[in-house]
Amino acid sequence: MSAKKSFWVGLPMQMMYGLVLGVIVGSIVSSEFATTYLQPLGQLFIRLIRMVVVPLVVATLIAGSAGLGNASKIGSIAVKTILFFAVTTAIAVTIGLVVANVMTPGVGLTISVEGLKAKAAAAPALSQVLLEIVPINPIEAFAKGNMLQVIFFSIFFGFCVSLMGDSAKMLTDFFQKVGDVMIRMTNYIMLYAPIGVFGLIAYTVTRHGLAVLLPLGKLILTAFVATAIFVAVTYLPLVKVIGLKISTFLKGAFEPWLIGFTTCSSAAALAVNLESARKMGASRAIASFAIPLGNTINMNGTSIYMGVTAVFAAEVFGIDLTLTQQFEIVLMGVLAAVGTAGVPGAGLIMTTLVFTEVGIPLEAVALIAGIDRILDMIRTSVNILGDNLTALVVSKSEGVLGKEKMDEDTQI
Ligand code: ASP
Repeated sequence: MSAKKSFWVGLPMQMMYGLVLGVIVGSIVSSEFATTYLQPLGQLFIRLIRMVVVPLVVATLIAGSAGLGNASKIGSIAVKTILFFAVTTAIAVTIGLVVANVMTPGVGLTISVEGLKAKAAAAPALSQVLLEIVPINPIEAFAKGNMLQVIFFSIFFGFCVSLMGDSAKMLTDFFQKVGDVMIRMTNYIMLYAPIGVFGLIAYTVTRHGLAVLLPLGKLILTAFVATAIFVAVTYLPLVKVIGLKISTFLKGAFEPWLIGFTTCSSAAALAVNLESARKMGASRAIASFAIPLGNTINMNGTSIYMGVTAVFAAEVFGIDLTLTQQFEIVLMGVLAAVGTAGVPGAGLIMTTLVFTEVGIPLEAVALIAGIDRILDMIRTSVNILGDNLTALVVSKSEGVLGKEKMDEDTQI
């Protein structure tokens, strides 16, 4: 009886109430009202939740890699994680392409693209991308929140701490405790989540109401169907393979998913995603490596979106994509998704890389921009689930899934 009661008043349900109320209020109030009074409620939530990310990642990664203690272990975890990211990302773009080819979201669309303009994002050279993983000044990397640099420095630091053995145990304990404190702060911040969700959704509804959505409804539907198929054929079977119940996974990942869905930012969901994976049994070290890294480079939802929007845009402009071009879309889509930052709208800018590759006019980007927030909600949800699942799968493959399960006692 009491368990049932606590479900209806628990945090996930409170966040759902915020979401529903946000939809209702957003359909009633004016856009000015929402911008002045409701949007700040959501922005406060995003700022609070992003505040904990850098210290949390630094502390957990240092403590995690110091605890792992040897280079080959770190190497094996890194290789497995990145391989998992690469394979799921390629599957995601392919599913996006295939579903869009079947559903033809852009056929018969008569939307004027006159006056719409978009600039192409420049693709940086691979050597530059790799070089920039190494920070010249780690403090600058922390200050700017450059996650790849933060991860590189923290793992290297943690590894060296582990080499120092007992004499540096104090440091490992220190960073472990800092990580625990950040999780506690996250739990306090989450008390505000229902209001934040309410503000974000109400604002989104006033800005992207039905009138904006209807003309491109088929594109949204295609993205949704492709995403649902991807989750059903990739994630859910994997959840089974690692021995978790699908309901356990969906329930366990509910909070980070809802944060991603409403904020459209993987970065905003990072802290809660880390906590969620650890509660489902991912090891501390693996989760603190895979989730921050995945947050930056593993974007399965964005990959699906690359495939779907490329086919959509080609159809709108009457371009017949050859098989070679479709293959190019897969390759470029993977790279574009890897380069997408975990912030709202980043994927839209990166579509220009894919479109340019196969000669699609960039006006298509401006066309999609009108409804991109909705597509962003869908893709960010999957980006977050993918990172969470990676931490669980790699933990399972290392034989540590469920061995150091974080208990619920960190809840306040
Ligand atoms: N908003 C997405 C995320 O944060 C990135 C994107 O725009 O595709 O994961």
